[in-house]
Amino acid sequence: MNLVLLGPPGAGKGTQANLICEKYKLSHLSTGDLLRLEIANKSEVGVKAKQIIDEGKLVSNEIIINVIKSFFNKNKNSSGYLLDGFPRNTAQARLLDKLMSEFKNKISCVIQLDVEEKHLKERILSRGKEEGRSDDNEETLLKRLETYFNETMPLIKYYDEAGLLKKVSGVGEIMHINQLINSIIDRL
Ligand code: AMP
Repeated sequence: MNLVLLGPPGAGKGTQANLICEKYKLSHLSTGDLLRLEIANKSEVGVKAKQIIDEGKLVSNEIIINVIKSFFNKNKNSSGYLLDGFPRNTAQARLLDKLMSEFKNKISCVIQLDVEEKHLKERILSRGKEEGRSDDNEETLLKRLETYFNETMPLIKYYDEAGLLKKVSGVGEIMHINQLINSIIDRL
């Protein structure tokens, strides 16, 4: 089973991804986490990525391709994947389709975590305080939201037309949202 989690910054993708991966034994691909690891290791990719992340833009598809290829190589024998924060634009979605068909695999479902913009700011700013993420500040958030609306939102239509999209409200108790997601997965 391969799932994609789609949603704006602050929608709760990371939290739900951890719960889903634990329950369904999936490998968690978070391109954001992998990039933050590169930054912490001060690698060449990390240095390039940090500046772009702090500007709230998307890092280049070239960097992302390398990051995900190395992830899939390390997790070759996994029974399934949960993709969190990837794909983030149409080019990446096409790349994912290509990778899936190369490995005779497919996306089982795309779960869209739907959260209104007014809730996002509050969540992101409190996460910034708790986790110290350098991109969780008011200025970068505005740019990240703009990037999401312009580049990632078209994927909602892309996956809806492919018959893969399921929308879940991401507002409310974490475990309630998780139950809604689990009931979608259990019907796949
Ligand atoms: P996230 O943790 O998913 O919110 O990602 C944090 C930041 O990492 C984003 O704002 C982007 O700058 C970068 N990033 C993460 N995933 C991707 C991706 N698939 N494509 C391009 N940039 C990404």
